[in-house]
Formats: sequence, structure tokens, C-alpha cells
Amino acid sequence: MSRKFLIAGNWKMNKTASEAVDLIDEIKSSVGGQTAVQVCVCPSFTSLAKTSELVEQSEVLLGAQDMNASPSGAFTGEVSAEMLRDLYVSFVILGHSERRQYYGETNQIVNQKILAAIDNNLKPIYCIGETLEERENGRTLDVVRNQVREGLENFPSKSIENLVLAYEPIWAIGTGKTATDEMAQEVHCDIRKVLSEMFGDAASSSIRILYGGSMKPENAEGLLSQADVDGGLIGGASLTARSFVGIIEAAQKV
Ligand code: PEP
Repeated sequence: MSRKFLIAGNWKMNKTASEAVDLIDEIKSSVGGQTAVQVCVCPSFTSLAKTSELVEQSEVLLGAQDMNASPSGAFTGEVSAEMLRDLYVSFVILGHSERRQYYGETNQIVNQKILAAIDNNLKPIYCIGETLEERENGRTLDVVRNQVREGLENFPSKSIENLVLAYEPIWAIGTGKTATDEMAQEVHCDIRKVLSEMFGDAASSSIRILYGGSMKPENAEGLLSQADVDGGLIGGASLTARSFVGIIEAAQKV
């Protein structure tokens, strides 16, 4: 089963709307017309309206960094799936380790968001990954398996083509430390086995599993060459066109 690479940029809390416009213009001028690799940028909520107009005439897709599971109501500061759809957002990052760490998001909370995203035709990029302590105690696979099972509980099989996972070892996020190619492949392969138990072999082999954690142009080709690595979720290196495009070009070579 061939899976198209997805390279997604998680801009986190960086870039004003006008800075976002400049960065997207640069990305578009290099890779905005190619279709070999799927490209997605995830700016902050405040930049989505402006960037939505910009990406319209290109192959670049838009993602959000989070959303609320409820359709509407008294949730000050929150944004719903429908609001994102209204801005032609395609993907939404859910369960990022920073949201789990700083905002107390559990697998159960993230599960509700994933189901709401799917209900609204948004493609969740579901983030999972272990802490350094969990890795050092040999618990990586147990932790990740549990995140997959709990986060994807009641996920409708008919929507499986809209599901993306991102394996992001927490100790590799923003630290400059990357999982080795082999470490990434071991966990990705195990995730696919769990997906196969949950949804069957055919579905499991069609789901994209991205790697995230200090991916950059220099290490992208090795990671993306692994059999079960289907793209990257990129933080720091997505903030300049040169490094983000460098990763896309590495994906084109694999
Ligand atoms: C991320 O936060 O999703 C991420 C992968 O960050 P970085 O690339 O900076 O490690």
C-alpha cells in the first residue's frame, strides 16, 4: 500500500498574521505547485483567516494546532471544528505533548477531540510519544500502545483515510536530539501493529504515521526512508522556508 508523504509544519505560538503570510508566500513559491509530497502548514488561530486565502490557489494545505471537542457554547477562548472548517482548514493537530503537559490533556480528552474532528470532516494528526524517563525505563511501546488504543477509541472505520498519527518522542521535541532511524522505525512498526489489531490489516497499512522531534533537512532523508515513516511533523525547522522546503525536498528524493 503506497502512502503519500505528508510534511506538516507546526508553527506553535510563533508568527504574527503578516509574518505568516510572508512565510507561506516563500513556501508556495518553492513547493506550492508540486504534488509528490503533501504539504501542510499549521499557523496559530489568529493567522488562519489570512493564510486560508493565500493557500487557496496552491497545493499547500492548512492545519490548526488544536480545537475544542464541543460544537459551540460557553468555552471562553476556544475554537470549534466548524469554525476551522469555515476557514478551509484540512488538518488539526491533536494531543500534542505540549497540550498534554501544560493543559492537562489526557488520552480521553484528546479522544473526544479526534471524534469531533472526524465528524466535521477534519483530518486529525494525533500526536503520541514517550517521555525520556519512560524510554529509559523500557516503557516506550507500552505508553505509545496505550495512547493509540485510548485516543482512538470508537474511531469510525469508515473515516480511516482521514486519520494521521504522529510519533513524537517528547525528549526529541525542540531539543535537537532526534530518535535514530532505527528507533523511529521500531515504534512506527509497533504502532501499525496496534492499528491493525484495532482496524484490520488493510486499514492499518493505509494510515500515515509521521515522525516528529527535531527533524531537519540533514536528518530527514534517513528518517523518511524507514518503511513505516510516512512523513514528518516539524516544529522549529518549519519556521523558515529554507529548512521546511529542505525537508520537503528530502521527502521528494526518498
Ligand atoms: C513538534 O513540536 O511537533 C516538533 C516536532 O518540534 P521540533 O521539530 O521543534 O522538535
